[in-house]
Amino acid sequence: MTRPLKVFCDFDGTITRVDGCNLIIDHCIGRDARRAIDDKIVSGELSFRQGYDAQFSGVNLTWEESLPILHGKNGIDPTFPPFVRRLAQRNIPLTILSAGIEQIIREYLGTVGLTGLDIRANRIRVENRRWRVAYFDETPFGNDKAAAVREAAAQGFRTVFIGDGISDFPVASVADILFAKRGNRLEEHCLSQGIAFHPFDDFDDVLAILQLKIGYKA
Ligand SMILES: [Mg+2]
Repeated sequence: MTRPLKVFCDFDGTITRVDGCNLIIDHCIGRDARRAIDDKIVSGELSFRQGYDAQFSGVNLTWEESLPILHGKNGIDPTFPPFVRRLAQRNIPLTILSAGIEQIIREYLGTVGLTGLDIRANRIRVENRRWRVAYFDETPFGNDKAAAVREAAAQGFRTVFIGDGISDFPVASVADILFAKRGNRLEEHCLSQGIAFHPFDDFDDVLAILQLKIGYKA
C-alpha cells in the first residue's frame, strides 16, 4: 500500500503573490535597504535571523497601522482555497510551514475564509510600535521546515512540499515530492543543485501534477 500523503506549504510568495513581511519592512526602511540585507543573507554574511531581526528593527508601526499596508498590494492566490478544500475532502493533512509571521498569515487567510489551518511559523511581538520576532525554534531560519517534513516521513507519510524561496532550501532534498514556484529562488537552487522538482505557477498546477504525474486521484 502506498503511504498517505501529507502536504506542507510555504506561505509568503507561495500562497501570496508577494511577501507580506517585506511590504511592512519596505514601508518603513525602504525596498533598497531591505534588499541589501536580503543580499547579505543570501551571501551568508548574515544569518537569516540576524538579517530578519535587522529588517524588523526598522519597523515603527502599530499592528492596526500595518493592516492597510499588508492588504494594499497583496492577497491570497485564488487557486489556494479550492486546493485546501480538495485536500480536506480527501483527508490529506496540510500544514503551512513558514519562516514568516503567524499573525500575518492568519490575517491574510481570514480574508478568504480560511480559518483554523495548521500553521507552524514564527510570531511577532508588537510593543510601543516596535516589532520583535519570536522564533519558533533555535535553528537558523527560526523554524526548521526540514525537521517538520522529516517528522511526517518518520510517521509514515509520503511528504509533499510546495515553496518558492530561500527558507525552503533545507527542505528541497528532504521532501518526497517537491514543488518550486516558477521564476523564484527555490527553482534556481534546485536546478543548480540537481534536485528533482515540479515547477508550478499556481495551485491548479500543483493539483494537476499530483493527480496526473504522481497518480494521486482527487
Ligand atoms: Mg516563500
